[in-house]
Amino acid sequence: MAGEPQADCLFCKIVAGEVPATVVRETEHVVAFRDINPQAPTHVLVIPKAHYPDAASLAAAAPELAAAVLAEAGQVAADESAEAYRIVFNTGSGAGQTVFHAHAHLLAGRGLAWPPG
Ligand code: 5GP
Ligand code: ZN
Repeated sequence: MAGEPQADCLFCKIVAGEVPATVVRETEHVVAFRDINPQAPTHVLVIPKAHYPDAASLAAAAPELAAAVLAEAGQVAADESAEAYRIVFNTGSGAGQTVFHAHAHLLAGRGLAWPPG
């Protein structure tokens, strides 16, 4: 069922506390934690606690939750005093998605080239 925890999902395990993470922000419905392999001085993943496989399916099924993820990403940027930042949703393995639980990458703390690779 949409939104239900998935037994084989790494980020559901982080939500459940079964896999440790460095949490920087948490609300009732959203959690933000540092990426284990940071690509910038600030690299935080912001996820809905409910499981949706990617950002578009999250937005389609639970638009208020998608908005909450974006709002929390902005709060992380503010917490980190980021003057400029990028929010990325890799979608599909060809675009680099490796964890199929919707997540925003919040990247900041260095120059960010455009267009991205
Ligand atoms: P994706 O490649 O799906 O867009 O992003 C998944 C991200 O999860 C990657 O940036 C990867 O470094 C991060 N990641 C993978 N395993 C773990 C983990 O166990 N803990 C944390 N904090 N991040 C992880
Ligand atoms: Zn999940």
